[in-house]
Amino acid sequence: MAELKTYISVILPIKLDWEASYFVPHSMGEVQVGDRVRVIFANRKYLAVVSSVGVKPEVDAGRVMSIITVERELRRIRKEEILLWRYIAEYYLCSIGEVYKTAYPTEKISSEENHLSALRKVENSRLKIQEQIQLRINKMEERLQKKISISESSKDGSKTKTKALADIAKIQSDLEAARKALTHVSQKEESQCILSETSAIGSTLSLSATQDSAYEQIKNGFSAGKPVLLHGVTGSGKTEIYIKAAKDTLKQGRNILYLVPEIALSRQLEERLNKHFGSTLMTYHSGKSSTTKRAIAEKIASTDDNYIVLGTRSSLFLPHHDLGLIVVDEEHDNSYKQDSPAPNYNGRDTALMLSVIHSNDSQRCNVLLGSATPSLEEVYNCSTGKHILVELKERYHGSGESEIEIIDTRAEKRKNGMRGNFSRKLIDKIEQALSKGEQIMLLRSRRAWAPVLQCEICGDMPKCPHCNVSLSLHKSHRGQFTACHHCGYKSPYHEKCSKCGGSFRSLGAGTQKIEEEARDIFPNAVIARLDSDICQNKTKEAQIIKDFTEGRIQILIGTQIVTKGFDFSRLTLVAVIAADALLGMQDFRADEKALQLLEQFRGRCGRRDKKGQLIIQTSQPDHPVYQSIAQSRPTDFNTILLNERKDFGYPPYSRIIEIQVKDIYEDRAELMAKKLAETIRTVLMSDNRNTITGPYPPAVSKVADNHIRIIRVCLRKDKSLHVHKMDLVKALRMFEKENRYIRHISLNVDPS
Ligand code: ADP
Ligand code: ZN
Repeated sequence: MAELKTYISVILPIKLDWEASYFVPHSMGEVQVGDRVRVIFANRKYLAVVSSVGVKPEVDAGRVMSIITVERELRRIRKEEILLWRYIAEYYLCSIGEVYKTAYPTEKISSEENHLSALRKVENSRLKIQEQIQLRINKMEERLQKKISISESSKDGSKTKTKALADIAKIQSDLEAARKALTHVSQKEESQCILSETSAIGSTLSLSATQDSAYEQIKNGFSAGKPVLLHGVTGSGKTEIYIKAAKDTLKQGRNILYLVPEIALSRQLEERLNKHFGSTLMTYHSGKSSTTKRAIAEKIASTDDNYIVLGTRSSLFLPHHDLGLIVVDEEHDNSYKQDSPAPNYNGRDTALMLSVIHSNDSQRCNVLLGSATPSLEEVYNCSTGKHILVELKERYHGSGESEIEIIDTRAEKRKNGMRGNFSRKLIDKIEQALSKGEQIMLLRSRRAWAPVLQCEICGDMPKCPHCNVSLSLHKSHRGQFTACHHCGYKSPYHEKCSKCGGSFRSLGAGTQKIEEEARDIFPNAVIARLDSDICQNKTKEAQIIKDFTEGRIQILIGTQIVTKGFDFSRLTLVAVIAADALLGMQDFRADEKALQLLEQFRGRCGRRDKKGQLIIQTSQPDHPVYQSIAQSRPTDFNTILLNERKDFGYPPYSRIIEIQVKDIYEDRAELMAKKLAETIRTVLMSDNRNTITGPYPPAVSKVADNHIRIIRVCLRKDKSLHVHKMDLVKALRMFEKENRYIRHISLNVDPS
């Protein structure tokens, strides 16, 4: 008789367009959706997730393989989690397996497994000890019986009897101790919770009248079932409102996910939120140890207790349940977007998907997006009524917006007003601030000492041997070296040109050089630097931010990271050195991003009662971005930008999908990209409102020995969008198969 079996389909942690079928012999027991099973696929073992049970196998039943085991000890994945993976795969045009792999990376799974095996070891040794004690007890009981019978059979007062009685007393007391020990080891030790156990201090919170009215509007938006965008200037109390909304959500017995774009931001916020939420609050991001991350996932999965998770985009993939609110702080921030590997998801948009999954007829999961500089996408969503706009126009402490001064570096040079990269005017301002005990932050968007080197004789610029970019010069305590910022290639710096022996001059100055100049100009100030070279060491990064927050550093020099939503109370002066680099990007989003960056940077200072100042050093003082911020009219500028986007058919009026072709042979990259572009044109150009540009080499056209070509597809945003996306993927897969051109092509939906 044939063995009874159930057919299932599973999600494998690989790029695969379909879900493979297996069977589960009845001897292995029942399986459910979300169970994790070990299977063999293409001769390799994988830990897969059951996606449906009781399916009809796609292939001939005789060819379907059995699973190897059901991993019953591993937590069952929730249906909501799998649903989120499906949404992401569909939107970002990748396989569900790739999303599964992002949600459950090998490291996360091995942490789960190691924990289980550690628990198992503890349990085994516990059982062994229990056994040994039991044996001892049995022996003692035997001896006790013997002694009792000796004492009963011997005469009162005899030596034998006295000894027997003494022995009995001794054995009885030993027995008692052993029995106690047995009960003790028999009680399984509860797994130690390593999460912070500070109790909620329950800080009180009272919103100002303006904030209160904004909160009322937010609640109205929620009641209408819509996500709300809270557009509030820096310091207007957006965070206070998030906290209020979170408290109200907890009161309803529902949970909260509070997203931030950067780990560094979560640290400052953690302290603030802790005062209100105590042990209900858990912070989750890639900087946490795998043990902590596992403990958080377990706690969320296993208890009905309410929680609030503060985290970066990876916390979207926790086993959430009963979510009532998702806050997306600094929604405009590009760090929400994952660039590689697939899925190239954006945390903000994924949060919106997650909220749909956690909403039903009776309960909704609300989304509160917040920013001082909303993305054009959000501005657009509010203009169409898809999202609700709520504004907070004034600062809580009422210090008003920071003043702005634009310094024309070309004019200053002509007047001999520059000392290195610092204008005299800026030096004066910094000195004034220092003398008042205030803090200063300087932004320079390039790291390294010199971003580019050039031979003074032959003009050669040393390039990375693996990428099509110039090498930058770095200085460290171990000496000087050149490095590639794209592939990480490093080589010692030889000071002489390898082509002609001439000496190098540096083109431009990176953060290291600015730091060096600053130390020279302000010898008595405490100066520190914050850029991705420093931030590789997370402890050092956290220390610098803490030192600056607490006033131990006076001047902080950094790249984009310093513009993010930090709150430094003594910071009154922020300045951009060589601001032109912010405008240099050849991208239709360049102006939007430059404006957001400057506005954010401006928002860092003067958060308390002191008015702040933003200084921009540039050689293009008339650029519309600077003019717009100087005249405090970013909203008008947004309207201009939106109109431009509409005229050119750019997002948010369309959807861009970028196709990247990568190949170690340049001619093949070129050829295949051309062929692919043609294929796509035939498929998508039937609708002449779609546009396809390229193939063209991107600004950096070779990275890590791979030549890159880009094809940019711009799809109309209407009912046809979904169909066209699917057509595109189908055509691509066909192309890969027919040309046997696998693993060269990748897709990026909504590139940043
Ligand atoms: P945003 O998030 O918009 O930048 P914050 O919430 O950080 O603004 O508020 C700025 C500062 O004002 C913070 O120091 C905060 O503690 C204070 N603040 C804002 N609203 C209130 C309030 N209702 N009561 C007390 N302090 C407030
Ligand atoms: Zn390189």
